[in-house]
Amino acid sequence: MIMTRDWMGCMKNIFTLQKEREAPKGVKATAWASMTHVLQPAYTVRLRPDQEGKVDSESGKLQAASPVLSWHGMTDTGRVRPHNEDNFACQDFGSRSLFVVADGMGGHDAGEIASKIAVKTICKEVMEQAKHNDDPQGLLELVVRLANVEVRKEGWSRGSNMGTTLSLALVDGDRAYIANVGDSRAYWIENGSITQITEDHSLVAKLVVSGKLTKEEARHHPKSNLLYRSIGTDEMVKVDTFTVNLKKGGNLLLCTDGLWGELSDEEIHGICSSEKKCETICASLLKRANEHGGKDNITAVVVKVG
Ligand code: CA
Repeated sequence: MIMTRDWMGCMKNIFTLQKEREAPKGVKATAWASMTHVLQPAYTVRLRPDQEGKVDSESGKLQAASPVLSWHGMTDTGRVRPHNEDNFACQDFGSRSLFVVADGMGGHDAGEIASKIAVKTICKEVMEQAKHNDDPQGLLELVVRLANVEVRKEGWSRGSNMGTTLSLALVDGDRAYIANVGDSRAYWIENGSITQITEDHSLVAKLVVSGKLTKEEARHHPKSNLLYRSIGTDEMVKVDTFTVNLKKGGNLLLCTDGLWGELSDEEIHGICSSEKKCETICASLLKRANEHGGKDNITAVVVKVG
């Protein structure tokens, strides 16, 4: 997404006007105010809302219904950066749903372009490759590698060192298949707990593992943005994959470091547990990150299992 300052000023005016409007039903006025900063479309879709269990044709046994999912994605420039280099997507492919966040890096507008190309490639390739692929984890590894190729191609054509992080989740039935490169994260949040699913491919994360830094020190470390693995930097990219069993009442969160760098895990857990709707959770997370300084672009995609 290429944004000029004039364009941003224009958008600011539009959103300032929106601020005067009444909050949508079910969205707290405070949360709605934070949505006025959103510079990309955010949306919620309900998937398979009333699906009942089906009888297996071979065994005759009643199979459990797929979980009811709702989701919402939101991104914000934050309070310091001049433009937003994050991108995200939420896509429903019928029996599967895909969620992606990306945090671009590079001079001028390269970061925005890199994250946009990566997200677009992932969505396009999952849609095309899913028809011939029954291995969700293998599919995710493949599409992330294809995103790496596309970002590198664009970098060469522009003579620019562009790159991006990626965190993505492919939800199939009651399972989420997760993949990541870089330091955009996936969390699984249940009533009593928050679990960071992905591992950051950053220098400070290595220092945390070796016991040289605490998690809290790492979040505020001046070199916290140094990555040893990202999309677009090397010809071959190693992709980490994970599986999460989705349970009713839980939330899957994908986010960039602009969110987790400002909020502790406890704060993220508190907001995800206290708000009922995905859109209010996203708005509250972004609002809190901005209240803590909004030093970076902030992106959150929340998938609620009902
Ligand atoms: Ca960032």
